[in-house]
Amino acid sequence: KSVDLLTLEIEHVNIEALKQLKAEGLTIHPDPDALAIIQDKGLQKLFYKEKGIPSSRFQLYANTQEIFAALADDDWSYPFVQKARKGGYDGKGVAVIKSSDELDELLEGPSLIEEAVDIKKELAVIVARNPQGQTKAFPAVEMEFNPKANLVEQLICPANISDDLEEKARALALRVIESMDLCGILAVELFLDQNDELWVNEVAPRPHNSGHHTIESCFTSQYEQHLRAILDFPLGATDIKLPSVMINLLGEDGFAGPVKYEGLSESFALGGVKVHLYGKKETKPFRKMGHVTIMAPSMKEAKAKADQVKSLLKVKSWPNP
Ligand code: ADP
Repeated sequence: KSVDLLTLEIEHVNIEALKQLKAEGLTIHPDPDALAIIQDKGLQKLFYKEKGIPSSRFQLYANTQEIFAALADDDWSYPFVQKARKGGYDGKGVAVIKSSDELDELLEGPSLIEEAVDIKKELAVIVARNPQGQTKAFPAVEMEFNPKANLVEQLICPANISDDLEEKARALALRVIESMDLCGILAVELFLDQNDELWVNEVAPRPHNSGHHTIESCFTSQYEQHLRAILDFPLGATDIKLPSVMINLLGEDGFAGPVKYEGLSESFALGGVKVHLYGKKETKPFRKMGHVTIMAPSMKEAKAKADQVKSLLKVKSWPNP
């Protein structure tokens, strides 16, 4: 109530409180009604279906009993993906079920099941829209995952896709933000399948992991773009200054306790390496402790430098006293 305009850094918030503030006249971006859809992966999927936005076939279920009944009716073939309707992040709340042997991994509670996309690449496009209706898209980024932790391991920008696909990815992401009537930035996660078709996976209405690189590698960062968008300023140029690779700094497997960073000095010596530490005091295996953006005149050089950073920079722990 003490602010002129309210925005959020995470979508898992009390929507009813936001709706009440909105009713009392406070400007909120993104709008609570759009947030309510985004917060619930089931409502998100229903929204895409209603708007004709390509997203994989799905069905909502109240509990695992309903899922077992659907499986008995042969409604789904393996592999399929189950997602908790609410509260998931960074791959938590997602179960990829590859065979009937893995059914004990099904998540309890309200969820959706969707067809597994035969993924060639995972892409993300961050788009922005201001109250006047101006929109802009950042260049598509391509994500590579750590199979063990199911977290993004490396993100490259520009994505290694054709100009035509780049254009289609941006157009699709813009279609999503426009149909949600949302102001601010929206990270649109996309799948490119083996037939070069694009599918919307999910969206996040806030600065996103897939936009960290923009801080250094684009004319406007995702944070500045969000502020411009919600304050109704003209949106900033989204052009890339240099090719970049972004890596998440994850806690090394086998280390837990007070965090100790190894190889900072050697990484800085490479040049074009920007380290962002989140200030977390304790590490544990695969905990997200920060990120690093690596830039170079060409993607080939950026990738080679990123490989060096990955072998040099390690998140370990001090022995407990
Ligand atoms: P989170 O909200 O935790 O980021 P996502 O919906 O992005 O969850 O799913 C996490 C990961 O699971 C995706 O990045 C992708 O690798 C995989 N995944 C999700 N949905 C599908 C799908 N329909 N087909 C194939 N893989 C999927």
